[in-house]
Amino acid sequence: MGTLTLQHVTKAFGTMPVLHGISLDVADGEFIALVGPSGCGKSTLLRMIAGLERVTGGTILLDGRIINEVAPKDRDVAMVFQSYALYPHMTVRENMGFALRMAGVARAAARVQIDRTADILGLGPLLDRKPKELSGGQMQRVAMGRAIVRDPALFLFDEPLSNLDAALRTRVRGEIKALHARLQTTTIYVTHDQVEAMTLADRLVVMRDGHVEQIGTPLDLFDHPATTFVAGFIGTPAMNLLEGVVEGTEIRLSSGLFLPLPAGSLPPGLQGPIILGIRPGQLQRAETGWPFVVTTVEPMGQETHVGGTIGGCEAAIALQGRSFPKPGDVLTVAPDPAALHLFAGGKRINTSTQPTNRGPS
Ligand code: ADP
Ligand code: MG
Repeated sequence: MGTLTLQHVTKAFGTMPVLHGISLDVADGEFIALVGPSGCGKSTLLRMIAGLERVTGGTILLDGRIINEVAPKDRDVAMVFQSYALYPHMTVRENMGFALRMAGVARAAARVQIDRTADILGLGPLLDRKPKELSGGQMQRVAMGRAIVRDPALFLFDEPLSNLDAALRTRVRGEIKALHARLQTTTIYVTHDQVEAMTLADRLVVMRDGHVEQIGTPLDLFDHPATTFVAGFIGTPAMNLLEGVVEGTEIRLSSGLFLPLPAGSLPPGLQGPIILGIRPGQLQRAETGWPFVVTTVEPMGQETHVGGTIGGCEAAIALQGRSFPKPGDVLTVAPDPAALHLFAGGKRINTSTQPTNRGPS
């Protein structure tokens, strides 16, 4: 089993608070990604769950037991670090066996567990090598092997793919997902990469400056970001966020340009400053609409990412097909009315946004 509960967990280094009260319930077998920009407190939170960092306030429970004061080796958790942290003078087999030896597992039983783990991860042929004889991808796999071999209640990963090149990162990401499907071990996975978080996790915890900004499934967050921060952080290319003021059924941008909105887009009676969020793929060329001044054109093959401005505000659109505009062109674009996100004071104010990927109809 591996259910994890965080109750208003806080952390300060000296007098400097870095986590301001994190609460989270993780079900047995769930894969959770902690995602957010560098410095927001992801590693600190993970290290507190592992027992490598003291808890300043609040409670951490694993399978209903409070573990705040339990030593790391007695927590039944295993952590994979970005740096791999393999022992350089030990072989792969010894690296994997070390934790078992510390836990007092008998030699013969340890051998069985190591062989089984090596089999799962395809490490068999590497068991007698030292870390310096391994590639980055192989070291990463040994680090995972060392975590798996103990069959812990909880896996903790801290940016395990950051030291791999892009192609290998995608492959190992797939391996981690397959491994989780096979072992079903509760996993907390830290990353600053929203694509990694979206593709791996059952649920994402988006963190910002030591707070939880939003918790949800990848598509919850994509379709219904609760704040402009989540809106801008989840999804590539990033959501357009246009700042303006409501005037009747239009939005006046700071440049003075009025953007007419599709009928019924604004909640009745809405006034004042507003941020209009539209994903680049939901802003398409149209007969009538808004002027989009092209500055950059990036053909991606499948689609083309076009950067530019709408009334002086930076914006992007994603065009299907291969009729590229040129820098300096002025296009007319219109939003998909069902895919408008409205924010005031940084928070979402409309609830009616349809899922942006409605699939075949
Ligand atoms: P992330 O993993 O999201 O990049 P961290 O958890 O590493 O962020 O850091 C969160 C904040 O805590 C940062 O401002 C960082 O400088 C600070 N911090 C982390 N570890 C320590 C430490 N040992 N002493 C003092 N400040 C720290
Ligand atoms: Mg970190």
